[in-house]
Amino acid sequence: MSLLYFPSWLIVAAFFLVTCVSKGMIFDIRPSVEEYLPNYDFYHNLSRMNQCLHHVSSKYSEFLDVQMRYRSRMGLTQFVVRVSNFSLDSVSKSKSDNRSRILFSYGEHAAEFLPVQSMFHLIENITQGYDLLRETHGAKFTRYLLNNFDLFILTIVNPDGRTIVERTRNYCWMGTANSVDLNTDLTANLRRTSKGTYRIIAAEPECRVFRELTSKHSFDAFFSFHSGSRQILYPLSDENSKGSGVDVLYLASLMSSSLKSGFKLVPANTSLFDAGIFTYANQERKIPFTYKISLWGGKEMKSDIPDKNCFSTFNPPSEDLKAELEVIHPLYPTIFNFIHNWKQTQILIMAQQQRSKTGGVPFSVSFFIFILGCACVLLLCNIRVPFSWKIYYRRQRRIVSLRSLGTLFAVICPLT
Ligand SMILES: [Zn+2]
Repeated sequence: MSLLYFPSWLIVAAFFLVTCVSKGMIFDIRPSVEEYLPNYDFYHNLSRMNQCLHHVSSKYSEFLDVQMRYRSRMGLTQFVVRVSNFSLDSVSKSKSDNRSRILFSYGEHAAEFLPVQSMFHLIENITQGYDLLRETHGAKFTRYLLNNFDLFILTIVNPDGRTIVERTRNYCWMGTANSVDLNTDLTANLRRTSKGTYRIIAAEPECRVFRELTSKHSFDAFFSFHSGSRQILYPLSDENSKGSGVDVLYLASLMSSSLKSGFKLVPANTSLFDAGIFTYANQERKIPFTYKISLWGGKEMKSDIPDKNCFSTFNPPSEDLKAELEVIHPLYPTIFNFIHNWKQTQILIMAQQQRSKTGGVPFSVSFFIFILGCACVLLLCNIRVPFSWKIYYRRQRRIVSLRSLGTLFAVICPLT
């Protein structure tokens, strides 16, 4: 179900209804002591997020769709934005769709505002590029993106946590309304079958969106965005056969150099690592490229989740936000260029394999046929015609020439 099908007044009414419901809930949480707080003229709060998404989905409906079928425990919408040239969907049905499919996930941790802002900055760049003249770099990039990618963007996976942060002003709150950390608390969900043990992310309603999207679409890459440090976590495991370890590490190093702020590359053994959604995407869904990227860090954290100055640990001051987003943004073109080239190479390799499986002639056989052909031509050129064939050939020629003469006489000297 798309946001476009609903009139704007209904969306605003729904938001206020949910807000009233959440107001009725008692959050026994004290405000945290903070160095600085978010200014909502710069940062998006939940209500502004809804308005922005409604605005872009109605203005750019030919390539941007906002789906609102997924909901959190408190009933808030987990908006899924799909960005692509939708006219290529018919090609997709005929199975000749060469678009790269990427899943971006934001807002898993409630107090991390910066990743969500980075998502809005990306959407703004894409939509602005669409409005520019075709010759400009921005316009060319947007068209390249729309024609070669099918992006799925989970705008805010944990809207309940964000509601709690906004209502209680406790910027150290990370989890869902059920106090679950979507990134680390999912390891208990193990399913044992005859083939082995699998992780499943089933316990929290917020995880339904991951399960359904990753089962419905075959993604080439998955990125889970965070803040609090500057690092790129990549999987170090041979269990995912679809992504080569060399390619995974190469993209991680490309991303790190595009960010220019000394991002650490951190390998994680996903067969042991307890990282919820990230591990699920890599191990269970076998997405070739999976990363957990922490986009910004203010200061060294003494514990995983501090109990004060959390906003300044996870997010820059409001007046620095725009500049910080500009620094982060080169990450996206780096991802798109690499994944596009990788995908095209995979398509070529698969086409070659298909050709050799279904009647393609190997080089050695072709070479043998060529040599055989040459030998036949040489034999024909040097063949000696038997004597009896030569006599027959001459007789045939004589008969033909007499007939021709008879006809000629008949024409020149008619009897009547
Ligand atoms: Zn996080």
